[in-house]
Amino acid sequence: MSITKQLQSIKNSLPKNVTLVAVSKTKPISDLMEAYNAGQRIFGENKIQEMVEKHEQMPKDIQWHMIGNVQRNKVKYMASFVNLIHGVDSLKLLGEINKQAIKYHRTIDCLLQIKIAEEDTKSGMSIKEATDLLKSKAYSECGHVNIIGVMGMATFTDNQEQIQKEFKKLKSAFEQLKVINPELKTISMGMSGDYKLAIDSGSTMVRVGSSIFGNRNYN
Ligand SMILES: *Cc1c(COP(=O)(O)O)cnc(C)c1O
Repeated sequence: MSITKQLQSIKNSLPKNVTLVAVSKTKPISDLMEAYNAGQRIFGENKIQEMVEKHEQMPKDIQWHMIGNVQRNKVKYMASFVNLIHGVDSLKLLGEINKQAIKYHRTIDCLLQIKIAEEDTKSGMSIKEATDLLKSKAYSECGHVNIIGVMGMATFTDNQEQIQKEFKKLKSAFEQLKVINPELKTISMGMSGDYKLAIDSGSTMVRVGSSIFGNRNYN
């Protein structure tokens, strides 16, 4: 199926309150433009340099989401345009995003990445660390970042029960953090293989790559 058809069939299957991030990492501009011409305006990338290059070449009404791990020394390259940073996992990183946002007279939306997977390879904060961050004086002094929700990645497994358990953990983390900050609204969870399960578990934002653009070739 074409990118246009895949995109439309996924969009049609999503509830109205769920936002679709088209994950376009490793894919050429021509593929992204096909999705753009089919109406997609939110794209997710996991490498800052690649996102910067694509941002330069593509229409300016696109919202760019950084979904990968963020190195602090690279925040400056995306601070002028990034729309949402999904993987914030420390106060130090948040401080750097705030500092760069000030330079561009912007406020940058962020999600706190929560560790929900049992696998050790997936990063993120514990619920306690996220709670402490939201309550901290240091965060209250970051006037140019806005934490709007949480993000998580489930274990890479076929075990649906385990994935569901992990998604429910993120939903519960969200509810706990919302007590501290009632403005939280976004739960970014679910990828090609598990987005339907994620939506059933409370996701409001799914990050779908290969089901739209086809499998990635990393060579
Ligand atoms: C690559 C990636 C996705 C999309 O994965 P697919 O399985 O291709 O849908 C989603 N979230 C993150 C953080 C990713 O790195």
